[in-house]
Amino acid sequence: MKIKEIRPRVFRWRGKTVPLPPHFCTNPMDLLPLPKASMQTFTFHEWLVVEVFTDDGHVGIGNAALAPQVTKQVIDLYLKPLLLGQNPWDIEFLWQHMYRKTMAFGRKGIGMVAISALDIALWDILGKSAKQPIYRLLGGKTKPRIPVYASRLYSVDLEELAKEAKRYKYEGFKAMKLRFGWGPVDGAEGMQHNVALVRTVREAVGDDIDVMADAYMGWTLDYAKRMLPLLEPFHLRWLEEPVTPDEIHGYSELKARGQIPIAGGEHEFTLLGFRHLLEAHTLDYIQFDTNRVGGITQARKIAALAEAYSIPVVPHAGQMHNYHVVMASLNSPIAEYFPLVDVEVGNELFWHIFDGEPRARDGFVDLDENLLGLGLTIRGEAFEKFEVIE
Ligand SMILES: [Mg+2]
Repeated sequence: MKIKEIRPRVFRWRGKTVPLPPHFCTNPMDLLPLPKASMQTFTFHEWLVVEVFTDDGHVGIGNAALAPQVTKQVIDLYLKPLLLGQNPWDIEFLWQHMYRKTMAFGRKGIGMVAISALDIALWDILGKSAKQPIYRLLGGKTKPRIPVYASRLYSVDLEELAKEAKRYKYEGFKAMKLRFGWGPVDGAEGMQHNVALVRTVREAVGDDIDVMADAYMGWTLDYAKRMLPLLEPFHLRWLEEPVTPDEIHGYSELKARGQIPIAGGEHEFTLLGFRHLLEAHTLDYIQFDTNRVGGITQARKIAALAEAYSIPVVPHAGQMHNYHVVMASLNSPIAEYFPLVDVEVGNELFWHIFDGEPRARDGFVDLDENLLGLGLTIRGEAFEKFEVIE
């Protein structure tokens, strides 16, 4: 089997998007004197879909969501030429070739995202060729179904927030995650608003539901240290991305306090990136996203390393490229799940692009063992709902 063609395309959402109010979600730009609704410019309404075609008729599908137009350029200019004519079963060699070829500029960020998308497409081919879902190539099922947590609960009016939280509980979710809306520039008053968000969700769902909260890189270490004692009474399962991804010292300091478990890693890359995070005792939960971290070829190695450290892996975003890794790892007790809602920050676009993404029922997703490889196809409708950039 040989790779004969590679087609990366960007799907740009053409439909309506929900305007995001100020304080909808903290983000790294909050520290700057910009107009209040800076999250509105932090959205992503494009998705990269890459198809890899083999000479024996298999088509592997990979995807990535960070800076898709630039990612496509990396694939077209640097990675595609390495893969054409190669055998997808030599996947470790192919990964190493892509990594080493782009070493000078790739290592982290867009270069690794491009490698990730292609690697996922190659694993899709391997699964289809072996007539198995990918998780069977990674070790098989470690659980009958995957427990998932509802991940949305943006910082909105408290009554509305309570209603949304109760809805997830009613739908059967045993865990859910909310977003903070205020950061260092909002002072002590903003801290109280943040506390009110967490209190509202905790009171809405009671104590028998896991509640997590995400600062999405929008805080500073000083601010996080001041927030921790205020949040402690609500016994969060974790506090996510309290500081920016490069502040490894900050993560270590927050984790060492032991007040609230610390989660992060959705903006970290490769096995070595996670080795550094684990050695520095930064995280209680690892949250790589397979379509950023280096594809399944890296995700499975990081999963093994994390298991050795007894640090659970709960990948960012759910979706099939992560669910296969979670299914095959006992050290991944739960996965993220983005509910299907009107398009807002962009976390929802994949629902409109792919068929095969499992819908949550009673707080679980099922992986259909009859779906081979990744288990996704591109929806016919996607070509109407999106502008497709070749
Ligand atoms: Mg997150």
